Amino acid sequence: MQLDDLYRRVIMDHYKNPRNRGTMDAESVTINLNNPTCGDRITLQLQVVEGTVTDAKFSGEGCSISLSSASMMTEAVKGKTFDEALELADKFSGLMKGEPVEFDDYEDIEALSGVNKFPARIKCATLAWNALRKGIDSNRE
Ligand code: ZN
Repeated sequence: MQLDDLYRRVIMDHYKNPRNRGTMDAESVTINLNNPTCGDRITLQLQVVEGTVTDAKFSGEGCSISLSSASMMTEAVKGKTFDEALELADKFSGLMKGEPVEFDDYEDIEALSGVNKFPARIKCATLAWNALRKGIDSNRE
C-alpha cells in the first residue's frame, strides 16, 4: 500500500510538473501519436546528433498516465544512443507485462509498474514510448 502511494505521488508530480514539456525550434524529428481509446494525443520532438538523442520535448493532451509517462520517457532518453533508447523502450514493454524490470538510470519510470494491472491504461503509458520507437525507426539509415 505504501509503495502504491509513493508511486502515485511520483506519477502526479510528473503530471503536474512535466519535464521537457514544450516544443523546440532546432531541427528535430517530430512524431504525432494518438491513443483514441482514451483521447491522449502526443507530439514528441527529438533532437538527434549522430545516432544519439541529445534532447527530447513533448506536447499534447491526455490523462495523467500518458503525460507523466511522456515526462519520464523524455528525461530517461536524453543523451542515450538509439540502441540504448530502444533498450529502455523494450524494458518499458516488459514493465507493462508485469516483469520485474529496474530502471537504474531513471527510477521514476518504475512508478508506472502498477499500470499493468489495468489493461485499458497500458496504451496510455506506452504512447510516448511508441512515439520514441517511431522517431528512431524513421531516423535509422
Ligand atoms: Zn490515457
